[in-house]
Amino acid sequence: MADSRKNKNRCSFCGRSEDEVGFLITGMNGYICDSCATQAYEITQEALGAGKRGNTTKLNLEELPKPVEIKNFLDQYVIGQDDAKRFLSVSVYNHYKRLLQKDGGDDVEIEKSNIIMVGSTGTGKTLLARTIAKLLHVPFTIVDATVLTEAGYVGEDIESILTRLLQVADYNVPEAERGIVFIDEIDKIARKGDNPSITRDVSGEGVQQGLLKLLEGSVVNVPPQGGRKHPDQKMIPVNTKNILFICGGAFDGIEKKIAQRLNTHVVGYSAVRHTAAIDKNNLMQYIAPQDLKSFGLIPEIIGRLPVLTYLNPLDRAALRSILTEPKNSIIKQYIKLFEMDHVKLSFEDAVFEYVVDKAVEYKLGARGLRSIVETIMMDAMFEIPSERKDSFVVTLDYAKCQLEKANMARLQNA
Ligand code: ADP
Repeated sequence: MADSRKNKNRCSFCGRSEDEVGFLITGMNGYICDSCATQAYEITQEALGAGKRGNTTKLNLEELPKPVEIKNFLDQYVIGQDDAKRFLSVSVYNHYKRLLQKDGGDDVEIEKSNIIMVGSTGTGKTLLARTIAKLLHVPFTIVDATVLTEAGYVGEDIESILTRLLQVADYNVPEAERGIVFIDEIDKIARKGDNPSITRDVSGEGVQQGLLKLLEGSVVNVPPQGGRKHPDQKMIPVNTKNILFICGGAFDGIEKKIAQRLNTHVVGYSAVRHTAAIDKNNLMQYIAPQDLKSFGLIPEIIGRLPVLTYLNPLDRAALRSILTEPKNSIIKQYIKLFEMDHVKLSFEDAVFEYVVDKAVEYKLGARGLRSIVETIMMDAMFEIPSERKDSFVVTLDYAKCQLEKANMARLQNA
């Protein structure tokens, strides 16, 4: 009995035998048990975390991408939207410059210029944000404003926006304090109606007031795990002074407000010349801060988002380009999928025109392209991997037939 105890392998850290622990990991001259390994990991994390506090990645203006380079990079993934790309590139570059400015010295302090991008759904706002994230040298996160509600209601506190940033910065606070946050669907927290209401507006003005605090730059207590704050939770103070906020929203129906404003201005002698110049098909390009106010954003928020830019609605030509041109275009993705089965996939040009026609018909913008191509390719993706084919051509007839078949099936199920 005593012998068997002696022969047992033991953890070299806590001394427990293999029966007393979950499992032992064998090393060169000893063992470590699962709980000691976990503890060791925690100690390392803590030590690293403590070491990191106060350290931020060094930026060097010479090495950072210039606005033109940032835009060129965006061009590879996002079709059109030149205005938005230029604004974004400049803002990101200026953000770096602001981070590099020395404290003290002269009195000129570069203030941050948060951005707001307005454009219908599926025009590439989130895509722009995601693409720019690929070449950033500071922490970046995308959050959705729809989940935010005023404290005390079901939903998430405003501060949870910063939780995500802290997470991507690995809880390194100074690093997070130089980050960039993209707030998607900012229009969803607009006040309903132009009249300030005295009744409580759960997801409207209260949330905007909360957001204002973040945009202005203040020290905010952030719940490290996000969600709702609760009294026993340890909070991490984060200063938002140097965090750049980029907001995006579809602002459905804002064209009407723009049209109204443009119409009311069309009076007087110069009116005739003025109306002629207005492109009624793309009113978004005339967007001005007062339209955001009419839509229901409070003036203080608008003031804190000084850079206002817009995205164009996607026309046929843009949709056609989106299908095939971007670096990871939908069609390139399917070709790659088939390539992995050693099948050379190709499309008749007429198929692209057909897909674009359908996307325009369904009024789904670029979002529709993917679901249409997916429907067309579904049967082929199901069958071809088991067939011994080395090429497959999607013809116009095949595409039409597949889409009509799917629509029929849907109608029958309805
Ligand atoms: P939103 O403006 O609603 O945020 P997204 O950026 O999410 O739109 O676009 C949805 C999808 O449509 C993207 O994943 C992308 O595939 C495609 N898309 C939209 N606009 C463009 C564009 N300008 N260039 C390339 N692809 C685009």
